[in-house]
Amino acid sequence: MPRHFIRKSDFDCEIERFNAAIQKSREELIRVRDLVLDHLDENHAQIIDAQLMAIQDEEMIKAVQDLVHREQKNVTWAYYEVMNVYEELLLKTYDQYFKERTTDLRDIKKRVLHHLSNEKDILQPEINVASIIVTEKISPSDLIHIDHRQALGIITRYGSVDSHAGILARAFRVPYISNISNLEELVSYSEIILDADNEVILLDVSNEIKAEFAPRIRDFQILREQIINRKVVKKTKDNVPYEIFINAGFVDEVKAINPKLVQGIGLFRTEFLCLKRNTIPDEEEQYEAYQTILKQMTKLPVVFRVFDFGRDKLMLMLDLEVIQEDHIFDEWGGIGFLLENPVILRNQLRALLRASVNGNTQIMLPLVMSINDVLQTKTMLEEIKEELKQANIAFSEDVKLGAMIETSSILEELDELAQHVDFFSIGTNDLALYLIGSGRTVDMAKNYYHPKMFGAIDRIVKSAEKAGIPVNVCGEMASDPYALIGLTAIGIRSISVSSSALSAISDEVGKFDTSQCRAVADALLNAKDATVIYSILKECYRGHIQ
Ligand code: PEP
Ligand code: MG
Repeated sequence: MPRHFIRKSDFDCEIERFNAAIQKSREELIRVRDLVLDHLDENHAQIIDAQLMAIQDEEMIKAVQDLVHREQKNVTWAYYEVMNVYEELLLKTYDQYFKERTTDLRDIKKRVLHHLSNEKDILQPEINVASIIVTEKISPSDLIHIDHRQALGIITRYGSVDSHAGILARAFRVPYISNISNLEELVSYSEIILDADNEVILLDVSNEIKAEFAPRIRDFQILREQIINRKVVKKTKDNVPYEIFINAGFVDEVKAINPKLVQGIGLFRTEFLCLKRNTIPDEEEQYEAYQTILKQMTKLPVVFRVFDFGRDKLMLMLDLEVIQEDHIFDEWGGIGFLLENPVILRNQLRALLRASVNGNTQIMLPLVMSINDVLQTKTMLEEIKEELKQANIAFSEDVKLGAMIETSSILEELDELAQHVDFFSIGTNDLALYLIGSGRTVDMAKNYYHPKMFGAIDRIVKSAEKAGIPVNVCGEMASDPYALIGLTAIGIRSISVSSSALSAISDEVGKFDTSQCRAVADALLNAKDATVIYSILKECYRGHIQ
């Protein structure tokens, strides 16, 4: 954050900048309020009303102006200081209601500071020395804006490695561990070791321990730099073809992939393209991005998932963490949101179709709730194709359309749905949320061994087989070596995992004997609870690594 003293002659200009930032933030909040009202109710809109009142609080505005005049601090600095005083006051009160309002205050502060800056990256937390970040919680937008080379790791009190922040941490190869309660103790140490693979934090960093960890740290540093350096297997040990695709979300991430070593991208989360600037890129910008990705991947398949806003992802665009925590947007997102906002969807589909001539383009719809979602999208696709033809704009006729299976309602319509799409892709992160009800903020690993997950995935595989369409698993469950055995047991032969998990998962698949996996399918599907499933999978895993 720029902090400097200003000349008296700059006073007016600074105050003007401040007023403009308040005005822009106000307009943004009004838009957010309208969205919340459209999709939720007055009660939730009141959260935004409170922010709207606070953002134009006369006393606060006067305090900032005074500080600029009195101490000749630039307005960003003055605003930051004034807001910190307010925040401290709220934190000191005994009233829980006021304590909780600090989140609102921080949200406002972030928003105004963002507008006060001419730089895009004002939200970037400053990390001057390579360090492990220890923080209460981390949002996806924090993760976007930190300097990843300086962030050696992240430890949080709240959150989950399968939250979108966790997914981003993996994409950036920043080791991340959550649900740690003694943060205060941790920060009192100048050196700690974070072993996120084993969910261990070591406080005793003696020379012996350091020496023990040195080779792993070195390997990790190599991994951080070179994205994928080994060829991904295409078959199991018993020669059964197996697809292992990559989950990605950034153009730079794709640019670092050597297409000769991989099989393709099984999930490109296009909404991540909106993160840097907190806005949806226009058709032209999207077209450029999709075209770059397709060219980079030569003719390998690239599955572009259309924007999946809603839940924590919409929130991160709107920077509205207050609502994110309540999971109240669970029912509102994915393709449903886009169909309600057809201009966004139309632009995206146009950009995707125009880019499609550059490679093997596939389009995937997130959070499909009903067949109608697919039919409506198909109608729109046909209209766009017609428009493109009229305008003599080239596009590929072979673009496949797939549906993500990740809500409980669509499980009831699988056979019919399979008649309307070219492939299924199972989003286990959301599916767990729908089937088991536990959110991404809890330990998702427990969900991976839940009987309901295996039961549902078995049904999905059978429906796909019956219709003769491919099925892929692109949720994080496929990156869990035990769960992966279970998925393979019930017929999964195509997965998509983050690039950081790719090599390890490829090694696992290379050891699989599918008939050995198949042998545990019945036991898995008849298991009564997650503990039973876990022990079956653990046993089978041991069999494979011997
Ligand atoms: C999922 O839900 O499993 C998934 C792959 O999509 P996302 O995590 O982006 O919702
Ligand atoms: Mg999902």
